[in-house]
Amino acid sequence: MIWNKNKECMSRDEMSDLQGKRLHKLVELVYHNVPFYREKMQALDMTPDDIRTIEDIRKLPFTTKQDLRDNYPTGLQAASQSEIVRFHASSGTTGNPTVVGYTRRDLEIWSESAARAFTAYGVTRDDIFSVGYGYGLFTGGLGAHYGVEYVGATVVPTSTGNTEKHLRLLKDLKITGLACTPSYALYLAEAMEKHGMTKDDISLKIGAFGAEPWTENMRQEIESRLGLQAYNIYGLSEIIGPGVSYECECKNGSHISEDHFYPEIIDPDTLEPLPYGTTGELVFTTLTKTGMPLLRYRTRDLSSLISGQCECGRTNVRMTRIIGRCDDMLIIRGINVFPSQVESVILDMPEFEPVYLMVVDRVNLLDTLEVQVEVRRDYFSDELGTMLQLKKKLADKLKSILSISANVRLMEPGSISRSEGKSVRVIDKRKLK
Ligand code: ADP
Ligand code: ZN
Repeated sequence: MIWNKNKECMSRDEMSDLQGKRLHKLVELVYHNVPFYREKMQALDMTPDDIRTIEDIRKLPFTTKQDLRDNYPTGLQAASQSEIVRFHASSGTTGNPTVVGYTRRDLEIWSESAARAFTAYGVTRDDIFSVGYGYGLFTGGLGAHYGVEYVGATVVPTSTGNTEKHLRLLKDLKITGLACTPSYALYLAEAMEKHGMTKDDISLKIGAFGAEPWTENMRQEIESRLGLQAYNIYGLSEIIGPGVSYECECKNGSHISEDHFYPEIIDPDTLEPLPYGTTGELVFTTLTKTGMPLLRYRTRDLSSLISGQCECGRTNVRMTRIIGRCDDMLIIRGINVFPSQVESVILDMPEFEPVYLMVVDRVNLLDTLEVQVEVRRDYFSDELGTMLQLKKKLADKLKSILSISANVRLMEPGSISRSEGKSVRVIDKRKLK
């Protein structure tokens, strides 16, 4: 099912044309209303008339998270305060929060984008959807909430922190859809199993998971434990919130609502645009937002773009799974390491629970990496030899993927702390020293 065929299945020429027109309008808006952008453009000796087609976007300056912080809280707003109807603040995963103001029209754009996502997952008016993202300043809860309502399905605003009640409602209301972080989905699955429930006791069919990076293995794990089809939803508060991109039934990349959010991939070091298929930093320009529109916002998320029509019929560009953030990347003994690499190894081995923690430290000037992982009850053994063998098996696999050796620490099931929101997978003690 497609929510907005007109915009999701446009020909490339039509889309480029629309994007070019919208970009010109956007540049006019920020030039006249946001001193930060006017000064940047003046420094480049540019006026809005220099921006006519979407290709002209390359002439425009980038915006960084630091720019948002420097203009905290509302310096980048283009709309007057009376036009702003809501504020959100980013969860501050990596530093100070940033505040985003939305006009009524922005909220409309956001709801529509999220509705495209839920429709792509197969949600209809007959579904009952539980939103297990945190409600509040974080955009996850309200973003998903309005998307579900916009489609006309029933929304259950469960939020986080009510796991027992959540399980009960899943069962009693015969809830068919679940939106939350992938780690919370697994936490719910665990809690369900602890209560002696199985996926047959609930009616979940569709899951909308995002707000943190997750892997293909994690998808399979969630699907088999909760008995649903799991789809990716991506977004960030600076751009709008969840619904910037979404998977369709093909589960082969997430379609970007590029009539609203124009994507580019750049080399984070040289800032040069990279071609389709090449991994780099994802950059978005908000083509239609008027509250806090952003030009070429550097997300720090690493992904690549896929062009061409998808089997689902949509023509919108797709982005591949986020492999991590530029600032998520650990440099351990000079080697780049992403938590997602460790995750894919662990989730590939039936012996382990899908929960892990990486502890990085520096001992005698040498970086160390410890990977803590929980052994599933069925594989837990009192025999030292068996456990040592398991430890070695994981250490060898990690070494071959990461190219550095890690000290594996086997833990009892349930001993690593779970997260209801975005999970913490890394403790870098080097930063604390
Ligand atoms: P922050 O976490 O930066 O404080 P947000 O709450 O707006 O701010 O979260 C946005 C970020 O969450 C994205 O930039 C991205 O790193 C991550 N994210 C959101 N959705 C996904 C997803 N589906 N897959 C991977 N990462 C995601
Ligand atoms: Zn598709």
